[in-house]
Amino acid sequence: MQISAINKFSLIEFPWEVSAIIFTPGCNFRCGYCHNSEFVLKEKLKNIYKNLILEKAFFNFLEIRKWLLTWVSICGWEPTLQKDLFDFCFKIKSLWYKVKLDTNGRDPGILKKLLENNLLDYIAMDIKHEIWSFDKIVWVKIDEKPYLESINILKNSNIDYEFRTTIIKWIHDEKIIENISKYISGAKAYYLQNYRAWNTLDPNFSWKSFTRLELEKFKNIADKYIKNVKIRN
Ligand code: SF4
Repeated sequence: MQISAINKFSLIEFPWEVSAIIFTPGCNFRCGYCHNSEFVLKEKLKNIYKNLILEKAFFNFLEIRKWLLTWVSICGWEPTLQKDLFDFCFKIKSLWYKVKLDTNGRDPGILKKLLENNLLDYIAMDIKHEIWSFDKIVWVKIDEKPYLESINILKNSNIDYEFRTTIIKWIHDEKIIENISKYISGAKAYYLQNYRAWNTLDPNFSWKSFTRLELEKFKNIADKYIKNVKIRN
């Protein structure tokens, strides 16, 4: 497993329980607003690969911190690009930790396999835009099928999960949020995350954040389709 960084103590993921968060390098998307291009762009990744954290050191840390930590959160950039993700989750679960996975939904196969083997306790999946218009924001051509399949896998799973969209002025509007909400309708949870402009992958990315009032309007739209809609401002 390629581990580029570890946050050893976090209450952000689950405020009532302590998590360790690990970050894996590389992503199949190229979102202009991405805050960490050094972990995404091939030419910059070379430096990251030179300084990876040893998996053994990470598992030693987990052994020592068992008394404090409950969760291991596996975040990307895009963790499903890691070939040994299944084995990695298996090892974490063997230590009796709960596992949260962040993904953009690119690989429904691995999601299915992990769920079938009870290796996940929570999934957070990004929905960047209307599925047929993903390329407006991720800047690569995609086949929408796997993403739709991942949405269905989450909706039919029996663990907790969330869908989430980082919303950006002039890229998202009320109609787009309504369309996204329609095809995740009935989901357990949907988070609307406000965009923050800093250190963007595209240095010219100058789109803006929404105001709280505008975010509330989006929430009201999503509320029609999903019971648990929240704003992350
Ligand atoms: S924002 Fe997320 S999905 Fe987009 S390029 Fe960055 S890490 Fe990948």
